[in-house]
Amino acid sequence: MILLTCPNCGARNVSEFRYGGETNKRPDVNTATPHDWAEYLYMRRNPNGMIREWWYHRAGCGSWFIAERHTKTHDIIATYLWSPEAAK
Ligand SMILES: [Zn+2]
Repeated sequence: MILLTCPNCGARNVSEFRYGGETNKRPDVNTATPHDWAEYLYMRRNPNGMIREWWYHRAGCGSWFIAERHTKTHDIIATYLWSPEAAK
């Protein structure tokens, strides 16, 4: 069983969550080109290493949060709620 730790509810079976994809910086709405929006919406880096990604606790508190996960080993080193500081 794979466990994922919700920042609000604690460790739960991963089946309670929905994967939301890699975090990526939203383009500036005033200067973004159609290419920038396409890159933001559809392109993923898919690195071999640590990545920050969105998860949704659909069978729990209903919160979206960020997990830092290694894509090869699936080790999760941290989970936390989004904040302006966390987005940097
Ligand atoms: Zn939760």
